[in-house]
Amino acid sequence: MIEGSCLCGTVRYRVDAPEGPIIHCHCETCRKAHSAAFSTLMPVPRNAFQWIEGESHLGSYESSPGKLRKFCSLCGSHLVADRPDQPVILLRLGCVDSEIAGRPQASIWRSDGADWYDPAASIPEFPKGIPSS
Ligand SMILES: [Zn+2]
Ligand SMILES: [Zn+2]
Repeated sequence: MIEGSCLCGTVRYRVDAPEGPIIHCHCETCRKAHSAAFSTLMPVPRNAFQWIEGESHLGSYESSPGKLRKFCSLCGSHLVADRPDQPVILLRLGCVDSEIAGRPQASIWRSDGADWYDPAASIPEFPKGIPSS
């Protein structure tokens, strides 16, 4: 079981299926939609996916023909991408609340990648914000 919700908590979904593969997508439309270096996605079976709260607050944007990016119209969180003619829905993993056992398996659309982001770069990490002292 995988559960997810938007930033404001209005929209919630549940997936009654095992985890799918985890992929980082660097395509330009993902970068723009999420205003981030990439979007992390996981395909799950459509017939195992259900909205459990707030479906009426979903907005959607057709970023390419037949591809609907669905988001909470109150807080803007992107929750899934959906091509209604396909058997899977793409979860946007940043909104998943469940513990995820899998780890990313690939980066796709690196040809569209932000020039300021290098996945191989080694940079300092801090548990929270930049330390003040
Ligand atoms: Zn929301
Ligand atoms: Zn993408």
